[in-house]
Amino acid sequence: MIHHHHPLASSCLGTQRQLSSFHFGTAGSTAGSAAGKAYIQASLHADELPGMLTAWALKQALRQLEEEGKIIGEIILVPQANPIGHAQGVLGYQLGRFELASGQNFNRHYPQLTTAVYAAVKSQLGADAKANTALIRAAIRQHLAQLSAASELASLRKTLMHLAADADIVLDLHCDCNAALHVYTGTPLWEQCEPLARYLQSHAQLLATESGDYPFDEACSQTWWELQALCRQDGLDVPIELACLSVTVELRGQHHVSGKLAQQDAAAILDFLRFRGLISADSIPPQPVLPYPATPLAGSENLVAPHPGVVNFLREPGSLVAAGEAVAEVIDPLQDKVAVLSSAHGGMLYAHELHPYATTGMTVAKVATAQAFKSGKLLSA
Ligand SMILES: [Zn+2]
Repeated sequence: MIHHHHPLASSCLGTQRQLSSFHFGTAGSTAGSAAGKAYIQASLHADELPGMLTAWALKQALRQLEEEGKIIGEIILVPQANPIGHAQGVLGYQLGRFELASGQNFNRHYPQLTTAVYAAVKSQLGADAKANTALIRAAIRQHLAQLSAASELASLRKTLMHLAADADIVLDLHCDCNAALHVYTGTPLWEQCEPLARYLQSHAQLLATESGDYPFDEACSQTWWELQALCRQDGLDVPIELACLSVTVELRGQHHVSGKLAQQDAAAILDFLRFRGLISADSIPPQPVLPYPATPLAGSENLVAPHPGVVNFLREPGSLVAAGEAVAEVIDPLQDKVAVLSSAHGGMLYAHELHPYATTGMTVAKVATAQAFKSGKLLSA
């Protein structure tokens, strides 16, 4: 295991934060060899800690596997992806989703690579898909290296992208408020993602080609299908792989930080890495049945409070709910009003709000449904 330190741009006089990455196995797989590269980070939203405990379990397991000579290719682990957010303690609360200085979400506004990469590689693409992948990855690295980082947050984004963007597999470990385990990935990547979702026993699989505002996972993966589209548009008949499986893994809710769950989730991720050939194994672990099929992110239904009140949750995340079935009540004890919230389409109830007080218009719960009915930006702020 090699420990690398990546200094971030200093924001204040007298302080400088750094990001730590831990590297297992052998680098060099980025040239397109079969072995491959995986990148796993946790707690980019610094108040989402199940992933950090999972990363700790992974770190110990990977160290052991490395000693046994079982890591093929390269695995990079970043247990704390957001040292800026972890320093944002305010009045006894850790504010880890948005940077206090700018108000920006730590998981938005990652660099869009497609235009620059296409311009750099267009004339050199050929009939060999692997050679094209190596060429595109080199262009991605080159483009990221020359990006300016005008703030500490920009330098964090650049550093994370630099570590991840040329990997075959990128896992960004988050969590929701109170939730069942679920994943977000690119629609064209579902086939590659399904084994991971099965190992993790993911209860909702939310697919989009564009969620809006460039979250980290899409910034890593979207380039590849956008390059395919640009080549088609220009009449270039060249094979472009979907060379980066990038997945945001929501490890349940903010309070689901437990050694038992972390061991379980780390074991599932290791099984997936065995399946993908990054860890040698005598046999590929069998894939359990997926609890609920993949559905469009545009079909994720927000159950919204029509008036303020205290929330009485009637169903737990991870429950299948029928159309019209009561999921939660919002109770106004002053005017004796009770709003019963239900899904219009029916599906998998995958997340709840954590704090059981609703303001008017607040999303109280989320249901994955099969019908895509939304457009525009698909993620919450
Ligand atoms: Zn998050």
